[in-house]
Amino acid sequence: MTKSIISWVIRHVPRKYLQLVSHIFLKVSVLFYAGKNVTCNVCGKSFRKFLPYGRVARENALCPNCLALERHRLMWLFLQRQTGFFSEPLKVLHIAPEHCFIERFERLPNLEYVTADLESPLAKVKMDIHKIPFGNETFDVVFCNHVLEHVSNDIQACSEINRVLKPTGWGIIQSPVYDLAATLEDPSITDPAERERVFGQRDHVRKYGQDYARRLTRSGLQVDEVDFISTLPAEIIALHALPSREIIYFCKKGLEAAG
Ligand SMILES: [Zn+2]
Repeated sequence: MTKSIISWVIRHVPRKYLQLVSHIFLKVSVLFYAGKNVTCNVCGKSFRKFLPYGRVARENALCPNCLALERHRLMWLFLQRQTGFFSEPLKVLHIAPEHCFIERFERLPNLEYVTADLESPLAKVKMDIHKIPFGNETFDVVFCNHVLEHVSNDIQACSEINRVLKPTGWGIIQSPVYDLAATLEDPSITDPAERERVFGQRDHVRKYGQDYARRLTRSGLQVDEVDFISTLPAEIIALHALPSREIIYFCKKGLEAAG
């Protein structure tokens, strides 16, 4: 029952609005999930297990305290272990910022941290990713997760990210990627129900396939497919309930735009 309600809400309410109200209800559920079996490495709290989450609800997914999902806990660990994100002086652009990260990144004294989004009330700068309102080579780091599958021209969006990155800059650009040989895209499909049928969600405009990384390089970005999760011990994966499979798309500024 709980699972079917969660599935319905997730299908019909955009995540950015969910994030605004859901934490109030989730605080209550913290009491029911008291325990020590799993630890959210984003907020540091431990639970008996995480809440179920997803269109087809996944068990042990959502942190009731900070709303981090499996992929957020993975990204946090990646940033800790593979980058200087928590210590180096960095200017960061966070596009469509995830609720669980905002406050924590804002508190990091080494960061100059800018959040941006077209409509999310969580972000400070209102912007269209097709035309990022910052000068060339402004940022050391750009995060842009679960955005590209919603935007009309993903290559242009990535060109903009490439443009605002400093020459030594890097970014993480995650999107849902499916077991398809090639990305499925059809701009003539605009009906939400039809989009859900073809692309998997009512507000998705394409469904990425295994060409995702190669596709993004058309923007000029360099894209490494990092299978970070396969480098982690099983007990860490279980403790933080990390995704069973998730490639991290680690991008660096390309020196020249690809033709
Ligand atoms: Zn948490």
